Amino acid sequence: MTSSKTKSHSTPHRHSQGGKDFRRRVNNKFQAVDTPVPHGSPRIGAASGQPALILKAGREKSLQRRHPWIFSGAVESIDGAPASGDTVPVRDAEGHFLAWAAYNADSQITARVWSWDENEIIDAAFFHKRITNALNTRSTKQFPLPPGEGWGVGKPGNGSRIIHAESDGLPGLIVDQYGSVIVMQLGSAGPERWRETLADILQELCSPVCIYERSDSDGRELEGLSPRAGVLRGALPDQVEVLEHGLRFTVDVAAGQKTGFYLDQCDNRALTGTLSQDKDVLNCFCYTGGFSLYALRGGAKSVLSIDSSREALQIARHNVEINVLDSSRTEWQCADVFEALRKLRDQNRKFDLIILDPPKFAPTAAFAEKAARAYKDINLLGFKLLKPGGLLFTYSCSGGISDDLFQKIVAGAALDAGVTGQIIKKLHAAADHPVLLSFPEGAYLKGLVLRVGM
Ligand code: SAH
Repeated sequence: MTSSKTKSHSTPHRHSQGGKDFRRRVNNKFQAVDTPVPHGSPRIGAASGQPALILKAGREKSLQRRHPWIFSGAVESIDGAPASGDTVPVRDAEGHFLAWAAYNADSQITARVWSWDENEIIDAAFFHKRITNALNTRSTKQFPLPPGEGWGVGKPGNGSRIIHAESDGLPGLIVDQYGSVIVMQLGSAGPERWRETLADILQELCSPVCIYERSDSDGRELEGLSPRAGVLRGALPDQVEVLEHGLRFTVDVAAGQKTGFYLDQCDNRALTGTLSQDKDVLNCFCYTGGFSLYALRGGAKSVLSIDSSREALQIARHNVEINVLDSSRTEWQCADVFEALRKLRDQNRKFDLIILDPPKFAPTAAFAEKAARAYKDINLLGFKLLKPGGLLFTYSCSGGISDDLFQKIVAGAALDAGVTGQIIKKLHAAADHPVLLSFPEGAYLKGLVLRVGM
């Protein structure tokens, strides 16, 4: 897209930039190679030669509310010829500065905001500051979790999401830590451009034995980025383990799902453990056995765990062994949960506690309707498999399904199953997955603890 604007939207002089083009001003050891401004490219209306993103009149509202995404439909024109990953100023139709953002020519989200401060320089020092801040908010000193909850007191182990993308002011960047191993996931063009810088900063601040890149999430395709995975710094140990509330979990950093483990459910798993005594438990979408191990340790009578991934189930069994838990109380099924639940219903099996933690059925709102049907299906079957007084732990990690909608879907499922349900507790991701108030999409994980029958 090239500009059709006649008005100039050049960036006013910023003291901190020494009057130079911001794209060429930073010279320190972390500086990533910036794409040079191509000479001779058309710059209609861009008097300074500096690229900029100009919004349509009235489309600045969401940015003013500090939502960090700029959708393509809001863009009036693009001054200059920025390359994907370049930092560009975003301006309203009148030319007023709104934000510095990472441009992406290949995404529906044309740019993601780095900073709302016009004087901010997006360079290595900026990323150093943001990462330091993210690490500080995870330290037990800065953020002691409330005592007396019975779980989640202080830091629950050696695993943590240390950077939660938009919610930590670093759109597109996810970083998970498993002891001395760090896994980095770049989900958009901005962090992709700063990949080496980010790895250097993480190495300096966290001193891991390995930084492993898992930039192979589905979302990258939507951003026009090809998948990439492999060691970025150091060497990957043969075995990676994470300790969580006293339980050991093997993490397959290279081939596991997401970054290898689902840290977001840490405290919700612990809660399940406290409610499992003498219960027959069904754990659907069990992955490497997270909820199952907590239930076993919590004294469950039996735990049936289902997942379609053979590799995940293999690790799950191994996890039971390394924690010296009683494997005779476990049953593992490699199956499609939708089919397995129907079989269990036909066999008239009943459970005291059921966990439904499916994958993301609706990555965006566009998939909400189809996803709603899938959520309703498994929840309806779940309700039918519960004994009276039984507990259902039901989750959605779909960004495209709101809290409200999820609750409505589950209510519809209960109605169709002919059960009365009470919400005992609402659950969210653990505290190392903060949610920026201006970015509600960050609250992707929602859970309900339901009790059926009165
Ligand atoms: N509760 C887990 C995380 C679940 S992630 C934990 O605490 O670690 C979702 C899981 O669903 C993945 O392991 C994936 O393999 C599995 N899965 C996806 N679709 C499935 C299906 N149709 N049937 C069974 N398992 C499925």
